Amino acid sequence: MYADLHCHSHFSDGTEAPERLVALALEKQLSHLALTDHDCTHGVEQLWRHLTPNQAPVEPAISSIEPNADHAPLYLLAGVEISCDWNGLEIHVVGLLEDPAAAELQTLLSAQQRRRRERVAAIASKLDSAGIAGLSEALDTLPAAALTRSHIADFLVQRGACKSREKAFKHFLGRRGKAFVAAQWCDIPSGVAAIRAAGGIAVLAHPSRYPLTRSKLMRLLGDFRDAGGEAMEVSCGNLDPLAKKRLIDLAAMFELYYSCGSDFHTPQAQWTAIGKFPKLEPSAIKNAIWEHPKWHSIVSAGRRVDA
Ligand code: AMP
Ligand code: MN
Ligand code: MN
Ligand code: MN
Repeated sequence: MYADLHCHSHFSDGTEAPERLVALALEKQLSHLALTDHDCTHGVEQLWRHLTPNQAPVEPAISSIEPNADHAPLYLLAGVEISCDWNGLEIHVVGLLEDPAAAELQTLLSAQQRRRRERVAAIASKLDSAGIAGLSEALDTLPAAALTRSHIADFLVQRGACKSREKAFKHFLGRRGKAFVAAQWCDIPSGVAAIRAAGGIAVLAHPSRYPLTRSKLMRLLGDFRDAGGEAMEVSCGNLDPLAKKRLIDLAAMFELYYSCGSDFHTPQAQWTAIGKFPKLEPSAIKNAIWEHPKWHSIVSAGRRVDA
């Protein structure tokens, strides 16, 4: 078992096509890969069109956390990462999905994509006023179905308005930037409900990345669980092993299954390569997300790629 359950393609803010992510996962001998683009499932749909359904998956043994044996298949899972509002803070909820086409989910994702386009338009007009034209035209040429501020930051760097993505956030896109526009995301109960309506498991993404005290983080976990959330990421790219231990303790306290994923966006970021994150130790495996009762139906509804 070697599962990376969080990554992005160029349908959101990643740089690679979904097929390239599959190739990287095969190279790393992953057993499972979930594509979890921000607020869209276009990448999943593209992959699914070209691969045959995984009728009767022959699963690798789930007792180990080792790379796949040579020539073992790679299982692809449908996923998404939904941006949610929690008391004014942006919280990300990953969904591992049985039916990515489910109507309730797609209705919510369409609304999120529309809000993203509206936000881009509002930012574009602020940039226009600052003498930087052409944002909307530039973004129209991208394959992205979910436009993010990272795309806008790249545009500002390409236009020579900023030296780096970080500076673009500092001077333009961040809360104190001159082109800041607040986002309007769905709340956690709506995001989780849409994932569950798609036969999915809702996973709280990268809990250690939110600017929260321990007591506020515990409130978030309580609210997430009350909304029907069932898992959280205890390991992700760029996480130190001590933080992982704290997250495992929190997940156990709130009876959430343990998930893990790289949050891969681009091969240029070495610390978040596909499959790169601290592994779950054997003692944590009994609460791993692949022990969740819905896991097998999610894998069965996915796709299988033979190495
Ligand atoms: P959005 O979902 O449109 O609000 O864009 C959020 C994305 O922007 C996140 O996924 C981050 O990758 C990126 N981001 C947010 N804040 C910063 C920052 N200060 N510096 C660089 N990237 C950032
Ligand atoms: Mn992202
Ligand atoms: Mn995220
Ligand atoms: Mn992500």
